[in-house]
Amino acid sequence: LSFQVMLRCLVSRCLLTNPVAGSLAGSQSSLAGKVAIVTASTDGIGLAAAQALGQRGAHVVVSSRRQSNVDKAVALLQREKIQVTGTTCNVGNSEDRARLVNMTVEQCGGVDIFVSNAAVNPFFGNIMDSTEAVWDKILDVNVKSAFLMTQLVVPHLEKRGGGSVVFVSSVAGYQPMQALGPYSVSKTALLGLTRALAPELAQSHIRVNCVAPGIIKTTFSQALWQDEDVVDELKKQLSIKRFGKPEEIGGVIAFLCSKDASYITGETITVTGGMSCRL
Ligand code: NAP
Repeated sequence: LSFQVMLRCLVSRCLLTNPVAGSLAGSQSSLAGKVAIVTASTDGIGLAAAQALGQRGAHVVVSSRRQSNVDKAVALLQREKIQVTGTTCNVGNSEDRARLVNMTVEQCGGVDIFVSNAAVNPFFGNIMDSTEAVWDKILDVNVKSAFLMTQLVVPHLEKRGGGSVVFVSSVAGYQPMQALGPYSVSKTALLGLTRALAPELAQSHIRVNCVAPGIIKTTFSQALWQDEDVVDELKKQLSIKRFGKPEEIGGVIAFLCSKDASYITGETITVTGGMSCRL
């Protein structure tokens, strides 16, 4: 079989097994034939991003720290007829980062899309009470690993002639949230990272963008939506009087990775239900 015939078989198999991707084939939003790495993608926004990319035809590589979470996410995506590979990866660990990228290239033949979604928040309280250990952890996982993963992935995007990188920041990056000072600062740093990388990588046809979610109902934001008083206070700041759903972020991430967004780079899209966002 010639390479082209094999390629056609692969593409048509993907379209047959993925009816949603099939209906999008040829459209600007189709991601058929693309390979996407999404970090921290076994729950919440990361999982929703993997679903949105997969529904548009991409082969998604999901990961997180715990194997049991990876297994569950892979099974869920397979039930949805999404092409998926899974592995464990703690983004704070350099060996894990390298293994994730190498495994993707070996098993999927390359990388076209990188979504940097992992973040931690080990500290609630007055910023003046935060310790060096708190800052090290937050900056290591939320900012440094996002950059170091990008640095590992970029040569592979270049081999494909270009690609797309999306960082997941937060509304807290625009307006620091009370009791979440160090975390908020790390999310502001991602707005800067997006702008620092975009002009340099544009030469390689790589677009670098960011999403800043508002309050999205996930395990991570539990402390905010479980407390009635906090909920009432937060809802006053919303135009759309409810918290967001992970898929409402996933869709925006997939849009940024698609041809629909081919002239967008260095940008952050806020997805907040109307919460005011200004630096
Ligand atoms: P979530 O639902 O709690 O999911 C977190 C995911 O991250 C899980 O899959 C978890 O799996 C994985 N994870 C945690 N630490 C990791 C690490 N060190 N390395 C790799 N994977 C890790 O969280 P989420 O709300 O979707 O948050 C995702 C992103 O959205 C974060 O960057 C967060 O800052 C941002 N965000 C969230 C909100 C919100 O309201 N939810 C708002 C703005 C921004 P394991 O436990 O198996 O590792």
